[in-house]
Amino acid sequence: MSSRTNLLDLDAEAMTVWCAARGEKAFRATQLLQWIHRAGLSDFAAMTTLARSLREQLERDAEVRELPPRSDHTSSDGTRKWLLDVGQGNAVETVFIPETSRGTLCISTQAGCAVNCRFCSTGKQGFGRNLTTGEIIGQLWLANRRLGAVAARGVENGERAISNVVLMGMGEPLLNYQPVLSALRLMLDDNAYGLSRRRVTLSTSGVVPMMDRLRDDCPVALAVSLHASNDALRDELVPLNRKYPLRTLLAACNRYLDRAPRDFITFEHVMLDGINDSDAHARELVALVRDTPCKFNLIPFNAFPGAGLQGSPRTRIRAFGDVLLQAGIVTTIRKTRGDDIDAACGQLAGTVRDRTGLAARSARIVPLVAASATVSA
Ligand code: SAH
Ligand code: SF4
Repeated sequence: MSSRTNLLDLDAEAMTVWCAARGEKAFRATQLLQWIHRAGLSDFAAMTTLARSLREQLERDAEVRELPPRSDHTSSDGTRKWLLDVGQGNAVETVFIPETSRGTLCISTQAGCAVNCRFCSTGKQGFGRNLTTGEIIGQLWLANRRLGAVAARGVENGERAISNVVLMGMGEPLLNYQPVLSALRLMLDDNAYGLSRRRVTLSTSGVVPMMDRLRDDCPVALAVSLHASNDALRDELVPLNRKYPLRTLLAACNRYLDRAPRDFITFEHVMLDGINDSDAHARELVALVRDTPCKFNLIPFNAFPGAGLQGSPRTRIRAFGDVLLQAGIVTTIRKTRGDDIDAACGQLAGTVRDRTGLAARSARIVPLVAASATVSA
């Protein structure tokens, strides 16, 4: 491991502190952020607004460390997927989903996940390790560079291919709080990516105390993985529910809404045949979320080896959605994108070095894709 500082690890505050420790003024930190994140550069020699002596010092003490891609595939629908090596046998995936009016990057926050949801192969692989700030923001940095938009853009103007970011890849973002927070701050920073809070969505399985902290520290758009309409069922599907049951979770959602950039929470509901997909479940959901302004995103289940679960038939998903729609809840069904390159929800194939003593698996892991279509369409 290099002893140089990876500047991707530093948000604006940390960059200012790092510069100050080297006798450099705060505006140097701003210039560095702009060169690294806006212009997408890693070569200090090309950062022409910096004094030569500073550039030489940076070459000695610092680096912008790109995550080495193990693979890079583009689907026939334009979805692009990178498998990125994060060392010691761990790899995570990042997926870019182009649409007519936006481009969404789905990024990972941990190698593996400790929450162990019943339907999720990331969870089945166990927990590898937390990603650093540099590894999280590095996914956006790399995708921007590889998508070619940054070079054309320069430091000043122009369109970026990535207009939205979703933290919906591998891992539970709120169980890796500080690095995720610094990465979010960089996403929103005008000197870095300048995304609005509405265009950055964090998805959580419901880590209640950390939802409150996020509300205070950096309230981006929030998606909550609900998946069940009562505690008995959710205890089985999302084990974290035993710690933070539905009533507690919904109260946290309501508190979050005070500061949220959108006036609703997005609830995700993976559709599992015969388990959580009946009309009665849908009606129970309607009653459950009565006091919480929300939208629903119904996710077709993507099977993986050993899951022991089946996805609901398309007709059932539509009927379930209709119950929600009739109750006045905006409901969408997630579209599958990139399935020819195994980039759709439930098809991603990262690897997690198993530190829990279980046999290492190359089973598929499950991040997801944010594209959606209306139920009634
Ligand atoms: N840990 C966070 C974010 C990453 S998982 C969370 O759980 O919200 C993001 C989403 O992946 C979850 O909403 C879950 O519904 C979805 N997901 C997990 N396994 C899936 C599968 N096999 N098929 C489809 N979606 C899946
Ligand atoms: Fe972790 Fe999210 Fe998968 Fe649950 S669904 S195991 S919280 S990554």
